[in-house]
Amino acid sequence: MSVKTYDEDNIFARILRGEIPCDKLDECEHTLCFRDINPQAPVHLLVIPKGAFVDWDDFAAHASATEQAAFVRAVGRAAKLAGVDASGWRLLSNIGAHGHQEVPHLHVHILGGEPIGPLRAR
Ligand code: AMP
Repeated sequence: MSVKTYDEDNIFARILRGEIPCDKLDECEHTLCFRDINPQAPVHLLVIPKGAFVDWDDFAAHASATEQAAFVRAVGRAAKLAGVDASGWRLLSNIGAHGHQEVPHLHVHILGGEPIGPLRAR
């Protein structure tokens, strides 16, 4: 159970309920992977849990071990399906205000298909 308040109307909750479409790449009982609507690289995927978790902190504290394992596996599977496993890719998750998280449902970004560059441009 989440301590942070989960917004049931966030865009990824609406995707999970089938209210709005997504460009799906992969799905399992606990996860969904789809292409980012505003890609920042040739490959830009999002992987989300199906459970209602606000962010990584919430997921780490409150998701079941089964959900957590499924999420880790889904990320690896997505990189393979997208064909970036051999060339390399970046995994990142934005968390909260300082992390610049825009959608309050846990998601990780998978970026690849070209050199992604340094982690942070100053
Ligand atoms: P973040 O700043 O980590 O919360 O990033 C949220 C990401 O969700 C952004 O990269 C958006 O482009 C992406 N996004 C927002 N709405 C959609 C949507 N309907 N389908 C796919 N990606 C979306």
